[in-house]
Amino acid sequence: MMNYRGPEMAALLSGLVSKLQAFVGTRHEVALLTTSGTGGLEAALVNVLSPGDRVIGVDGGVFGKRFCHIAEAYGASVRTLAVEWGTSVSPDALRRVLSEEPNCRAVLLTQNETSTASVHPLEELCRVVRESSDACLLVDAVSSLGAMPLPMEAWGVDVVVTGSQKAWGVPPGMAMLFLSERFWSFRSEAKMPRFFFDLERYRSAQKRGSFPFTPALPIVFALDVALDFMLEETAEGVFARHERLARLARSRVEASGLERFGGEDYPSPTVTAMRLPAGVDEQVLVDRLRTRHDTVLARGQESLRGKILRLGHLGWVEEEDVDRAFDSLELALREMGISSE
Ligand SMILES: *Cc1c(COP(=O)(O)O)cnc(C)c1O
Repeated sequence: MMNYRGPEMAALLSGLVSKLQAFVGTRHEVALLTTSGTGGLEAALVNVLSPGDRVIGVDGGVFGKRFCHIAEAYGASVRTLAVEWGTSVSPDALRRVLSEEPNCRAVLLTQNETSTASVHPLEELCRVVRESSDACLLVDAVSSLGAMPLPMEAWGVDVVVTGSQKAWGVPPGMAMLFLSERFWSFRSEAKMPRFFFDLERYRSAQKRGSFPFTPALPIVFALDVALDFMLEETAEGVFARHERLARLARSRVEASGLERFGGEDYPSPTVTAMRLPAGVDEQVLVDRLRTRHDTVLARGQESLRGKILRLGHLGWVEEEDVDRAFDSLELALREMGISSE
């Protein structure tokens, strides 16, 4: 424990914010919140919107849908653009919806839909929004920022949300928000209720070198160390490593005779999904992998339950980790009498 309102924190915090900005390549303000990724999304929404505001969101998976649901829970009027789970939203489809929603106050996008291992073409989507609307542009980059590029100024993004436990490779407990200048004009008009998540509180506390409320100090320390490693590897190096690991994962899926799920046009650099082979009991396979092969694969969520398995490869991951996961998977399937070849 240290005095989070003392001079040590002022130095740590300003260094941490500078490192985050340097790695991401932005001058946008940073807000550090003691919460999970979902809390970060909620914080973004309640500082931008008022009840009744028209909002456009994308339902292309669990997390895009969740972003819409949070806005609805606070009384926003959400127009949801639904895309088949496992596919990416097309810029033309978004353009059509935008043209039908002239009073749209905010657009909610997801960079990497973790539940379907699919990336959305964010650069093109942002261009469509910026060409045809003054709406506030919010991006859920919880499982992508830190692992792939997101030039937020160049793409005209107003709020980016990420979470400590994903590409940053530290324990869960902190959401990091990147805020454009435009964000603050939305903030001054937004009437949704907020207290803990009022970002003005974080801004004014940060000016004094502190936090408005007691922060999760272990995560602050851990993130500071993680960023030193990441800056040493360089952003380009970190992004290239994730691309390499994702290519390896996709080639291992193919080599083991499994069928890849999602991300056909834009595969994810941070998570790879595969269809469960016919006749395989998901629970039996996942339990066997965990108890006998020391390997934990993520199951499908919601409508994808029992249909797919997912392997995350983000943060402190190397080729060897990906190879071992697939070695285990192939072995477990063989032991179960299922030859995928
Ligand atoms: C993990 C994740 C979230 C939710 O984060 P929590 O920390 O579990 O609240 C939101 N969006 C995306 C894209 C994610 O991958």
